[in-house]
Amino acid sequence: MAILQLRLSKVMDGDILVEELEKRDIMNLDFNEMVTFIENMDEKSFRAKQLYEWIHKKLVNSFDNMTNIPKELRVKLNKDCIIGGTNIIEVQKSADGTRKYLIQLFDGNTVESVLMKYKHGNSVCISTQVGCRMGCKFCASTVGGLNRNLEPSEMLSQIYNIQRVTGERVSNVILMGIGEPLDNYNNVIKFIKMLSDKNGVNISQRNITLSTCGLVEKLIELVNEHLGITIAVSLHAPDDKLRKSIMPIANKYSIQDIIQACRYYIEKTGRRITFEYSLIEGINDSSECATKLARLLNGLNCHVNLIPLNPVKGRMGSRSDGSNIQRFKSILEKKNITVTIRREMGSDIDAACGQLRNKNKGGKLYESVCKD
Ligand code: SAH
Repeated sequence: MAILQLRLSKVMDGDILVEELEKRDIMNLDFNEMVTFIENMDEKSFRAKQLYEWIHKKLVNSFDNMTNIPKELRVKLNKDCIIGGTNIIEVQKSADGTRKYLIQLFDGNTVESVLMKYKHGNSVCISTQVGCRMGCKFCASTVGGLNRNLEPSEMLSQIYNIQRVTGERVSNVILMGIGEPLDNYNNVIKFIKMLSDKNGVNISQRNITLSTCGLVEKLIELVNEHLGITIAVSLHAPDDKLRKSIMPIANKYSIQDIIQACRYYIEKTGRRITFEYSLIEGINDSSECATKLARLLNGLNCHVNLIPLNPVKGRMGSRSDGSNIQRFKSILEKKNITVTIRREMGSDIDAACGQLRNKNKGGKLYESVCKD
């Protein structure tokens, strides 16, 4: 478990003494780990359930507010632990109601999360890494590469912070923000299990979608986790040559390897897979591409989600026009493939697919403008 380094300044006889304090982020503990943690403190194990519920159900981020926890235990916890350690420091509102949150982590790094309001409930798109090393040529999140992985607590608190500031429940979570979720495998799996734990915020796995550029070994490993989540695979091209020209990861995994892993996933889990296909004008949006894609996916229990490209300054590509998108869609449909076109949300605040960036503040902490 990560230990959070906090620097405290104390004024003693006029000298400033900087003390290194080590506090553990208790929000990274899943339910069983919380029980062990509490038992190791010689406390009754029912305290673990109370503590877990305060943090993950009631979303309280201060030990002082945990009214049924005895004072002495609260003092001990305050001394040794923190809860989360992330803050919303900026909010941008889109004309369509979408909100983009800039989240500051304990080390000064920042990531972004997006809240989208639908009739069927609130969806939050979260980041899984600070930056990304996949290098997709049309995506903003990969500029500057990967800085570090996010911990389960840092992913959970993106959702908890948003629930706290809006006072509204989040019912859907999509792992489509900054980062490649399967490149941060263990933390992401633990996060999904904690997010759907009935002792906590209890978001159904059916309402969680993980998007990946297709890390084949990890896709196969995922089968053994027995999760009920939806997997979305970013394909974006029907053949390896074209895919390599827009997604460097295609040099490592061929489309055939990805399709084979998806077939295995579908067989073992009985779940349908979504393929994402961002349409880039003149690159991957021809009728020939659509026909090839239909052939590739023939007979597979899948669904295609077409994403009109959100152009990113300094990155490759422009958006296919509306009639091209419709033509592409109908070619797939004629081959009996179910297709949806992703509704654009928050593009006026750069919150749409591929527009999120990690803004490194150089480790400098700065004032929160939106504390909850
Ligand atoms: N790393 C994950 C999540 C990426 S974001 C993945 O690769 O799947 C979610 C989707 O948006 C992916 O399909 C991604 O390829 C796509 N995307 C990235 N940049 C985009 C852009 N500028 N316009 C449209 N879609 C984009």
